[in-house]
Amino acid sequence: MNKDDLLGPIAAMLEAQGLTMADLAEFTRNDEGAPSSRPTIKAFVATKILGGLSKNSQRSYHTHFNHLIEGIVRQCECVCSACIKDFARSGTCTCTTCATARTFPAQGDVFISTSAIASIDLELMVELVHIMAVKRAQGENFIRARQGLSIKPTHGQGAREMCVTALHRLKARMIENKLIEPDTEKGSKKGERGQPKRRALTDDELAEVFSTVASGGDDAVLDLALTWSEFELAARRGGVLSLIIGELDREAQMIGLLEKSNRYEVQPCSLELIDFLMDFAASRGATSACRDRPSTTRTPRSSTSRTARPNTPIPSPVGASIRCTDASN
Ligand SMILES: [Zn+2]
Ligand SMILES: [Zn+2]
Repeated sequence: MNKDDLLGPIAAMLEAQGLTMADLAEFTRNDEGAPSSRPTIKAFVATKILGGLSKNSQRSYHTHFNHLIEGIVRQCECVCSACIKDFARSGTCTCTTCATARTFPAQGDVFISTSAIASIDLELMVELVHIMAVKRAQGENFIRARQGLSIKPTHGQGAREMCVTALHRLKARMIENKLIEPDTEKGSKKGERGQPKRRALTDDELAEVFSTVASGGDDAVLDLALTWSEFELAARRGGVLSLIIGELDREAQMIGLLEKSNRYEVQPCSLELIDFLMDFAASRGATSACRDRPSTTRTPRSSTSRTARPNTPIPSPVGASIRCTDASN
């Protein structure tokens, strides 16, 4: 009896039992031979997903995997100031008037199979991620406006795209691990990007910025050091302010910086900038004797708190200790 002769009766038998070929395929693909031993989404994400990704991608993806695993609390689509403030305070919306409010249920304990994944409303999750990003951005803009800062975009498109990308990766890994069938449809949409409103400064404009910075203010050389570093390293101000002399590696032409969330990154930079910072640090009394970053993680504010801890060693910050020799602001 050949294979074709066998398959016909087996298919008929399955049909008689109310089973499909897909049910059989899912069952037999499991190593232990039991559907219940399939991993849950939570276990799968913990073991199979994040390897091979950069730290940045891991962090971004993890945010969305957590939404999938833990669910998303009630979100309304309203962007009135009451709902924005509510979101900023509680991460949800407690308003009773918003008829559009929706919740995405936690899926971490779902055992992975084609039918189980297909029954999850991932589109809803993407929508809620989008809504939360819009609300977060609007809330931050309230604060920025109070501080006299320019507002930032509030379209939520970046969060939506990252969420869809994370879900695509998750599904691709499930398919690779033969836990689900390849998708028949494309999955969640990334949405349309608006026309970019940002542009790079031209060389002339950049020169204008630098000449303005270097020609006025209380401490023009310091301002130039900060501005040049921020532009060239694409660093956040906090990272530049907490830079210490020991992080300048002239030979390798690299600078170690504390980035967002106290993440430490070493990155290339021009020799001109390194020399400028070294000369500058030396001219303001920083010494190469203290070249080591303190063992505790430094924050932009740690030079402020140092005045409260006069016995701790000062690690020659290029930014902060230079800005004010008494390190008090
Ligand atoms: Zn509202
Ligand atoms: Zn609301």
